[in-house]
Amino acid sequence: MERARIRLHVEHPLGPGQAVPLTEAQAHYLFGVMRLGAGARVALFNGRDGEWTAEVARAAKRGGDLACIEQAAPQLNPPDLWLVFAPIKKARTDFIVEKAAELGAARIIPVQTDFTNSERIRQDRLQAHAVEAAEQCGGTFVPEVSDLVPLAKVLAGWDGARRILWADESLAGPAETLAGLAPGPWAILIGPEGGFSEPERARLRGLPFVTPVSLGPRILRADTAACAALTLWQAALGDWR
Ligand code: SAH
Repeated sequence: MERARIRLHVEHPLGPGQAVPLTEAQAHYLFGVMRLGAGARVALFNGRDGEWTAEVARAAKRGGDLACIEQAAPQLNPPDLWLVFAPIKKARTDFIVEKAAELGAARIIPVQTDFTNSERIRQDRLQAHAVEAAEQCGGTFVPEVSDLVPLAKVLAGWDGARRILWADESLAGPAETLAGLAPGPWAILIGPEGGFSEPERARLRGLPFVTPVSLGPRILRADTAACAALTLWQAALGDWR
């Protein structure tokens, strides 16, 4: 069976014959915006059960139901890689979350650092960006986006079994290859526009699970740095190999 063009993330379990109720927003999108009617096919995923081809069973203005027909693709989870980053301006923060979801991060943790400009984020909006990115890139997994937490708190509770790849702008210079990194759970750490403060650098340098890396000879903006680091890690240790 051909894979359906419209992809929708749902919370509901997916399985043979499974009926999936639509939220008002989903019904509006499918029937109001995309003009689908009964019998039309849609691809569904929930982050657990792979991608399913489903048919519109009931289309109404404020709701509707889909019926699962068959699995179109198995569940594909990203490698165990987290992105820890300091949020910057709104549009660039949105970009970071969208790209991290596309590039295959398993979890996204915005952190407040000494030079982070924003004190608040809209976690629900960022999560919606991650969902949209998964819908459009053909993914079956949506990374969870946490609420903003202070970096110091994140580091204090860190499980040392997960290594941190620290993009350290003070190392800007010839980039090391990441080929020698040990496999296992990792997190990439990207700073804000102002970079990391001296106390933060001292703290990070003293942690045994932190590996500082250069991302090349130029100082990248935080959004570029996040994409570059995710790409390098994916190529060295992730599911791009
Ligand atoms: N204002 C700072 C740069 C911050 S760039 C300065 O001029 O030094 C934002 C973040 O991107 C940094 O905190 C770092 O995590 C990452 N980054 C940018 N360029 C980098 C590079 N060449 N090497 C390593 N990390 C880099």
